[in-house]
Amino acid sequence: MDHFEYRDGVLHAEDIPLPQIAEEIGTPVYVYSRATLERHAQVFADALKDIPKKHIAFAIKCNPNLGVLRVLARQGYGADVVSGGELERALAAGMAAEDIVFSGVGKTRAELALGLDRGIGQFNIEHEPEGVALSEIAVGKETTARAVLRVNPDVDAGTHAKISTGKAENKFGVGIDAAPAIFDRLSALPGLKMRGVALHIGSQLTSLDPLEAAFARVGRLVAELRAAGHSITHVDLGGGLGVPYRPEDNPPTPAEYGAMVARVTKDWDVTLMFEPGRVIAGNTGVLLTEVLWVKPGAVSPFVIVDAAMNDLARPALYDAYHDFVAVRPTGEKMTASIVGPVCETGDTFARDRVIDKVAAGDLAAFRTAGAYGATMASTYNSRSLVPEVLVDGDRYVTVADRIAAGTIMAAERVPDWID
Ligand SMILES: *Cc1c(COP(=O)(O)O)cnc(C)c1O
Repeated sequence: MDHFEYRDGVLHAEDIPLPQIAEEIGTPVYVYSRATLERHAQVFADALKDIPKKHIAFAIKCNPNLGVLRVLARQGYGADVVSGGELERALAAGMAAEDIVFSGVGKTRAELALGLDRGIGQFNIEHEPEGVALSEIAVGKETTARAVLRVNPDVDAGTHAKISTGKAENKFGVGIDAAPAIFDRLSALPGLKMRGVALHIGSQLTSLDPLEAAFARVGRLVAELRAAGHSITHVDLGGGLGVPYRPEDNPPTPAEYGAMVARVTKDWDVTLMFEPGRVIAGNTGVLLTEVLWVKPGAVSPFVIVDAAMNDLARPALYDAYHDFVAVRPTGEKMTASIVGPVCETGDTFARDRVIDKVAAGDLAAFRTAGAYGATMASTYNSRSLVPEVLVDGDRYVTVADRIAAGTIMAAERVPDWID
């Protein structure tokens, strides 16, 4: 369910007609719906109602916009961050340090120190040397880091290889068989309070089976760690729940996920931590674009839009599908390839797809662009950095400005020793 609907034949974000935003802000532009975001946050939290002790940390890498984060902070969400920059964003958006979880396979010593200085709630340690470094830094600061060990359960998440993270050959976590010995050694270090384990097996999962298999393995590990005398109070189950990108997609619902988690973890007696990203933000945004040209092609015509792979990278990066709809559909259809202006064939959003018939000058929207959209934008081809708008009922605000190519160029210089 979302709040992007046609009224009188015109696509709206809540009460705002998208042509108004195109007119006032220009295109391409990301448009987010506050009501949709709040609804998704609420549905996910409701799905976990049978879990007695829990903590939800939004994986802010999927949409780190401050306006978006503030909405989620008000819903009681904390943040899962993967860099010092994200950590500062979560705090700037009003999330409590206590509610911040620091994940990521390549945290620097400076980032670990920053997390300690800010007093974040938990570090998810990815391998033993990182834990040793965290211990040293914490001792130096006369503080204690609350930490869990991320394990790699070696399950196939059944998702795109580039967003699969829980196979033995992936870079994340420590092998689950090696985990007990590493946990023993880390627990003995000063400045570190090892309180549990974490996992995250991948993103855009369309079946609960790999999650259930991974959670069951972690449940056995928790029992093993307790048998070895460790106090295990927290298990972080990561994120990964998929969203429907195509109309016919039917991923598991948050309610089904919550029921599975409650069943698998019922005897664990821990605080369960969750790191949802896409399932919260995916359907809360669209990328609004204008058709620049329609050009004949050998197979089907090219609809050339003013958004490109630098604004929405997922199709080029993971062959991802985003629904493409006309803002003022006529009811007629056409078969076309949708491409952007960037000088790469990879700058293709769809190949030979049946879409709403559009012509030059028409507005259109890529749906389900609220997660892993603007956050991955670049200025490739010296294009501007795409702006973001947050709609709330009949009002909206530009929550991220368009950063002009000239502003980016102004940060560059030519050495005076050339010529
Ligand atoms: C990316 C990521 C998430 C969020 O994944 P989604 O598929 O967006 O839910 C959660 N935890 C970690 C550690 C991640 O890297």
